[in-house]
Amino acid sequence: MSLLPIYTYDQPILRQKAKPVTEINGELKEFIQNMFETMDNADGVGLAANQVGSNKAIAVLNLSDIDDESQRVEPFAIINPIITAYSDETNEYEEGCLSLPKLRDKVVRPSAIELQYFDIDMHEHKREIDGFLARVIQHEIDHLNGIYFFERLSPIRKALATPALKRIQKGLVSTDYPLYRRKK
Ligand code: ZN
Repeated sequence: MSLLPIYTYDQPILRQKAKPVTEINGELKEFIQNMFETMDNADGVGLAANQVGSNKAIAVLNLSDIDDESQRVEPFAIINPIITAYSDETNEYEEGCLSLPKLRDKVVRPSAIELQYFDIDMHEHKREIDGFLARVIQHEIDHLNGIYFFERLSPIRKALATPALKRIQKGLVSTDYPLYRRKK
């Protein structure tokens, strides 16, 4: 296994829409294991494949270690995930992102979703999901559609985030996990 460097704002891959996975092979399973290792090393609760430079529609989640015991969920991967329904009810919660180091802000999202996805053995699932997991999955699926969480902020909050985004873009923000450096 190996750690993968995390791509940050504003690498082009983070603006691209992911491509569906058609077949799971050993190479892809190893890549997904590396995604789990990379997420855990960075103390993340979710990671999308384009955050580590791949255009595949894959995200990994790990809510097994979060403070709120009632919201803990064992690690799992979602492949070709699609949200098929959203609750009318919304809630607001502070989000961060491994691709946007040090930027945090409150984002409003639907409280519950209906999710369709394939697991690592390409078995199809359709589940209703609520709580913190519903939020993390929406954040990761946004990544797979080329969307950052700050784009869901109000125009004022978005403007206030601009200096922090510029610092990230210029590589001025340090992290205790490896970052991908733009090739000059
Ligand atoms: Zn993120």
